[in-house]
Amino acid sequence: MSSGANTIPQLEITPLVDLLDESVARFGPRPATEFFGKRLSYSELGRIVARAARGFQLMGVKRGTRVGLCLPNTPYSVICYFAILKAGGIVVNFNPLYVEREIARQIEDSGTTIMVTVDVAKIYPKIEACLGNTCLERIVVCPLWTLFPFAKGLFLKLFKSSQFCSVAEDDRHTSFASLTRDRSAPEPVEIDPEKDIAVLQYTGGTTGEPKGAMLTHMNMAANVAQIRLYMHDVTPGRERALLLLPTFHVFALTTGLNYCIAIGAEIILLPRFEPHEVLKLLDKKRPTLFPGVPAIYAALNAKVHIGNYNLSSIRYCFCGGAPLPVEVRQRFEQLSGCKLLEGYGLTEASPVVSANPIDSEPRKSSVGQPFVGTTVEIRSLENPHFLVPTGEKGEVCVRGPQVMAGYWNRPDETAACFIDGALRTGDIGYLDSDNFLYLVDRLKDIILCGGFNVYPRMIEEALYQHPAVAEAAVIGVPDKLRGQVPIAFVILRPDVTASERELLHFLGDHLSRMEIPKTIFIRATLPKTAVGKIDRKVLVEEERERRAAKSSRPEVSE
Ligand code: AMP
Repeated sequence: MSSGANTIPQLEITPLVDLLDESVARFGPRPATEFFGKRLSYSELGRIVARAARGFQLMGVKRGTRVGLCLPNTPYSVICYFAILKAGGIVVNFNPLYVEREIARQIEDSGTTIMVTVDVAKIYPKIEACLGNTCLERIVVCPLWTLFPFAKGLFLKLFKSSQFCSVAEDDRHTSFASLTRDRSAPEPVEIDPEKDIAVLQYTGGTTGEPKGAMLTHMNMAANVAQIRLYMHDVTPGRERALLLLPTFHVFALTTGLNYCIAIGAEIILLPRFEPHEVLKLLDKKRPTLFPGVPAIYAALNAKVHIGNYNLSSIRYCFCGGAPLPVEVRQRFEQLSGCKLLEGYGLTEASPVVSANPIDSEPRKSSVGQPFVGTTVEIRSLENPHFLVPTGEKGEVCVRGPQVMAGYWNRPDETAACFIDGALRTGDIGYLDSDNFLYLVDRLKDIILCGGFNVYPRMIEEALYQHPAVAEAAVIGVPDKLRGQVPIAFVILRPDVTASERELLHFLGDHLSRMEIPKTIFIRATLPKTAVGKIDRKVLVEEERERRAAKSSRPEVSE
């Protein structure tokens, strides 16, 4: 079965930096970014981006040069992102939480020669250590601390002064001030949107080895154009967005940064998620757009005093990246009056593929209909050259202008990721007769339990129906009898209690015997990826270690 538009409507495809240039021309005096009370207007942003682009060019950046960004959300991340693109370079996003080895590996894999980072003790030394050991030649250091003295109080609340660090002064380091010193205009660069890569995005990696998805200017610009058509009743030049998802992930980059810049929105940048601070900000700054992942809305819902905050300014929350439990959606919508729009996507599709309708109720458990110009195909799990009929499960495959050009320097992985020209997502799902897509699970997450396919997501959804459950994750573990069995990890809401026995009893009414977890661990926290998805990979590893430790312990006779 396949769904989607056969005719691709006219999506505006331009070099990505045109999104900014057009908004600078159209919304000049309006605020573009806000960071701890400090605003940059579109005109100011346009000017500083041009100067930074010139600085990058003077440093040798030209068409195709890979420049890394290893930054939390700050004005620097916005400025340097557009400046690299304006200079003709390719942005390589680095997760600042990665350990040095992972950063070094990504630098080598992508051929990143220049890295932009901040003077933060948890980030900068890891980058510094890569100078000389990898192909990294230069670091541009943005002084988080010194450039925003007016926000000192707030900063100290979020970061302790010991969290900042001194930076080496040598010819391999450039300060942000030096980068933006030259006032002459950057050399114009000829970009072919269909061929030139804008962003090398290393895949989130909740499963498998990280690989660099090559997202062209066309891929990224098409996804923005698709979101614009979808969000048809937002008002350019009038919206204000709260952006706390990190822009080194493509979901935030597209839905939070590129899209918001394209519609001339004011972007309130937050470098980290602290639920109480976010509630205060939502109340005080009155954003109209608030993109997020389910864990964010779940964490806010779980705050006992959420009712004390006025969240009524929020119109739309675009949510994706992980299943959005219906209880989480309904409660946040009820508390704020907003519309929580669940979409589906993946890094390799820049990332958005589908979304629930903006004008009507979402279809229960569906991740919506494909965006314009996008075709979703459901292919047989046995033989992926065949499509399966409507309503039948198979691998979700995607075609569309937002689908990546391939993986950087990995022809074999690229070939394996496409089938008859369509992107294989590794997700299992089905389409209904109205082209609504339903996800069942991920190919790699399936638990093979006594000859049955058990889908962790079904068990998680059942757990979410229990009133005491705030967050839930299910993984498969080896089992002598059945091959694999599910186990669950749960965080309870702050004001309620439930025992493992109670939860198991509750699940008995919702799931088949095979699906009942062997154990439910009630925990205070769950490991999360940088964008707030529950990191099953870490849970699997923790569980493997726990079991190994248990089996190596000597038996104690009673
Ligand atoms: P990433 O490339 O790291 O953004 O991860 C993409 C994966 O997240 C997809 O392949 C899906 O497995 C999952 N995903 C994204 N959106 C949703 C959603 N709305 N519901 C369930 N899973 C999702």
